[in-house]
Amino acid sequence: MWKKQKYWNPVMETLSHDKIRDLQLRKFRKIFEWSYERSKFHRALYDKAGIRPHEIRSFEDIRRIPTVEKSMMRDIQRKDPFPYGDALCVPLDEVAEFRQTSGTTGQPVYQADTWQDWEWWSECWSYILWAQEYRPTDRVFLPFGYNVFVAFWAGHYAVERIGAEIVPGGVLDTQARILKIQELRCTAMMATPTYVLGMADTARRMGIDPASLGIRKITCAGEPGASIPTTKKRMQDAWGARVYDHAGATEIGAWCFECSAQSGGLHVNEAFFLVEIQDVETGEYIEEPGRRGKMIITALDRQAQPCIRFDSKDIIEWSNEPCPCGRTFRSITGGVVGRADDITKVKGVLLSPSAIEEVVRGIDGLGDEFEVIVDKDGDIDRITLKVEILKGREGERKQIEAKLKDQLRLKTNLGYILEFHDFGKLPRYDVKAKRFKDLRKH
Ligand SMILES: [Zn+2]
Repeated sequence: MWKKQKYWNPVMETLSHDKIRDLQLRKFRKIFEWSYERSKFHRALYDKAGIRPHEIRSFEDIRRIPTVEKSMMRDIQRKDPFPYGDALCVPLDEVAEFRQTSGTTGQPVYQADTWQDWEWWSECWSYILWAQEYRPTDRVFLPFGYNVFVAFWAGHYAVERIGAEIVPGGVLDTQARILKIQELRCTAMMATPTYVLGMADTARRMGIDPASLGIRKITCAGEPGASIPTTKKRMQDAWGARVYDHAGATEIGAWCFECSAQSGGLHVNEAFFLVEIQDVETGEYIEEPGRRGKMIITALDRQAQPCIRFDSKDIIEWSNEPCPCGRTFRSITGGVVGRADDITKVKGVLLSPSAIEEVVRGIDGLGDEFEVIVDKDGDIDRITLKVEILKGREGERKQIEAKLKDQLRLKTNLGYILEFHDFGKLPRYDVKAKRFKDLRKH
């Protein structure tokens, strides 16, 4: 009968806000003490700040605790206990899983998990899948290269945990994956938005309409696309499926998810994570909805290599809308709206790559691919945007160009050099795309 229930955990997901806050505070104190007692790295950090575990009694006290940056984790690794370094809180023989970050922003960071941590990962993902209406009747295809990266590994185990069926599409190429989905009549899949669109494109070239394949739910991660309305629409239209966003990270865990209400926000899994939002300029903490800042996050239950007040650089904002799904976990509007590192100034104006994506994907007649190059013409910043025109729409180029120019100016307040390419000419990516290049930094 439990399989008919609306929530994966009906108690936790409907707990009153006050009770969730109590639980978070209690869990925080526990993980903080755990790390202080067991890891040299954490003890040195907190001793230096003059903070002891017994002094943590409120959320204000928590804000006095120093944050941890990715670079600090890089500095301690490859030392004893090898290869994780002294942020490790368990003996090496209790480590059951190795993963590492992708290293897109520098040298990869290693991450250790115990078996209990790994169970926690898949429990977090079970909340996600259940909220996105995955049920035991689903047959879920996973088109990702099973590897040292955490990616969809925990999604894989959560499919088993909720009682659905998993089809691991590891080393197959895209065409073989599409044929496998067709052959087995899979009903759901998980991938990056770039790959979801790429697969649709490949299917069409094989003469198969992706919407005919029977995939009805797609869970996205790794890129913000599923929370960018125009990209989401392209994916949903192509596959005839509901496309959901989720955000997670190797060092953090699977901390937020979109639910089947698709209300434009993502729920933070507040049973397992404490999210704080900090103003990037002033350092002030933001409680009110609608104001953006960077996320400081604590994984409240992760033990081997704890994540305590991790400065994620993700830009988010609280929503104040209660979600129609009835979950009491707070939501963030529009998911992760950017990265503190990515948002760059061009001609003195803040530019977020997601804003350009939203415009390009919203224009009928343009392909899914695009590329943005920022460089300098003498002393002046210059942005080139390369787009592809769909086959058969070349004749409408003038109208499409005018619309693109208008929308870009409206949404980003900047002017661009526009380059139109034939469909299929821009680079394609298998996992995460590298569509934004800032050449001024080199
Ligand atoms: Zn909801």
